[in-house]
Amino acid sequence: MHKRVPSGALHHVLIIGSGFGGLGLAIRLQQAGIDDFLLLEKAGEVGGTWRDNSYPGAACGVPSHLYSFSFAPKTDWTRKYAPQAEILEYLRECVERYRLRPRIRFGCEVMAAVFDEPAGLWRVSLANGEVLAARLLVSACGQLNRPAIPALPGIERFQGQAFHSARWRHELDLAGQRVAVIGTGASAIQFVPQLQPKVAQLTLFQRSAAYVNAKPDRAYRAWELATLRRWPWLQRLDRALKYLHHEARALAFVSWPWLMKPLQWGFRRHLARSMADPEKRAQLLPDYPMGCKRILISNDYYPALAQANVRIVDEAIAEVRERAIVTVDGQEHPCDLLIYATGFASTEFLAPMRIVGRNGLELARAWREGAEAYKGISVSGFPNLFILYGPNTNLGHNSIIYMLESQFDYVLGCIEAMQRQGLRYLDVKPEVQRGYNQRIQAGIQHTVWNQGCSSWYKTSSGKHTNNWPGYTFTYRRLTRAPELSDYECTR
Ligand SMILES: Cc1cc2nc3c(=O)[nH]c(=O)nc-3n(C[C@H](O)[C@H](O)[C@H](O)COP(=O)(O)OP(=O)(O)OC[C@H]3O[C@@H](n4cnc5c(N)ncnc54)[C@H](O)[C@@H]3O)c2cc1C
Repeated sequence: MHKRVPSGALHHVLIIGSGFGGLGLAIRLQQAGIDDFLLLEKAGEVGGTWRDNSYPGAACGVPSHLYSFSFAPKTDWTRKYAPQAEILEYLRECVERYRLRPRIRFGCEVMAAVFDEPAGLWRVSLANGEVLAARLLVSACGQLNRPAIPALPGIERFQGQAFHSARWRHELDLAGQRVAVIGTGASAIQFVPQLQPKVAQLTLFQRSAAYVNAKPDRAYRAWELATLRRWPWLQRLDRALKYLHHEARALAFVSWPWLMKPLQWGFRRHLARSMADPEKRAQLLPDYPMGCKRILISNDYYPALAQANVRIVDEAIAEVRERAIVTVDGQEHPCDLLIYATGFASTEFLAPMRIVGRNGLELARAWREGAEAYKGISVSGFPNLFILYGPNTNLGHNSIIYMLESQFDYVLGCIEAMQRQGLRYLDVKPEVQRGYNQRIQAGIQHTVWNQGCSSWYKTSSGKHTNNWPGYTFTYRRLTRAPELSDYECTR
């Protein structure tokens, strides 16, 4: 039985998370005149990804003018690719500008949500034992929120400090230390160049090499900032051009993966120019087609790896000892401190929350063969649950903010349709969801992500749960307005 819910605890919309997704939807709800909403945030501040990933060198991987809300433009980004602190500050400014702070409950972790069918309400349980109720529940928990830490044999014996890049221990002084970094993905390539000059030895444990291209980054010049301030429409034009430039890359990701070939040759030349040491160069040459895993950009990663105090180890890790990591070839690699750059539990989406829909159906059970949703947003059997940045809505080529904004409009469209038609809840029809996902999975077979590599885009059993296998404007068209005939509508 559910606890009796005090009337004050009933909301029209509850949003879990206060990153780009949660905050953006809150702004759009407010703009649409829907004021009865509350954001629940387990941490003590807004920002999600940009609050948690404060490691040295953390920065955006798409241009800042594209990686910000279209409805809350910012004309004074200091660099083409903003650093983490500036993106976090932007989100804080949005909170102030739209007076959202009173609408956010911090330190408030959602543990479970159960759909109460007779009442047509979600009962949402918090870590402090409180239960709230809402007509609509929106998950804005992101795909990259929970750090993934490998279970290394012997790790309990390790006597140094160990932490994940998304939980950076800023109070630790790494100067002069022997540091082991496990992982060579998007985070490692940003913080390794910052550590390398400080530490005595940096041992980089690499499972597979990444394609790291040059980053067209620089500080904006004073006259450019003044021009954007004076004529904000130029910023919109700049954004549109950057959008088109990035979108053009989807041709190679999703339509004609063979287009990656010439880019791959270009990359080889870039690597040859960037790394003089032939042994390291061989280690840094990826053994899978370009684009299959995320393509990274950096101007200081290869120069940092070229330094004498950096060693790249591409043997698998066998065990951890008191002050060393031992690889399967029996080599012992001494280290005083260990940093996991091992990414996130990307395919688990709403976990570890317990989400229970109609007839006691648990989301974890519905998704036992891998997460899927209709348009990445609705899941059959879970009425009035909307997921932002849900299954198959991640991108390899453009800004996630564009996808989130498409989803905001879709959720608003659902709310407005429900109000207009006096509906209590919407539940996507199982056959609609099935058909949609068959098309998604069939579409992804022909993309670059299905060319024989393991990546955070798919589950261990090989189901592609994360990426959108198309153009972002196609997704925008698909989410422009809900088709009520796709849903079972209950009055
Ligand atoms: C290091 C890094 C760099 C990235 N760079 C780019 C980039 O350059 N371009 C790009 O397009 N994308 C990038 N991304 C992807 C990025 O995650 C998205 O662009 C975007 O920030 C996602 O926002 P979100 O609000 O959906 O999720 P998040 O930012 O992950 O926010 C989720 C929020 O939900 C909260 N939460 C989770 N579970 C609960 C719970 N049970 N109860 C209460 N609160 C909860 C979390 O604390 C968090 O605040 C990057 C990701 C990482 C990790």
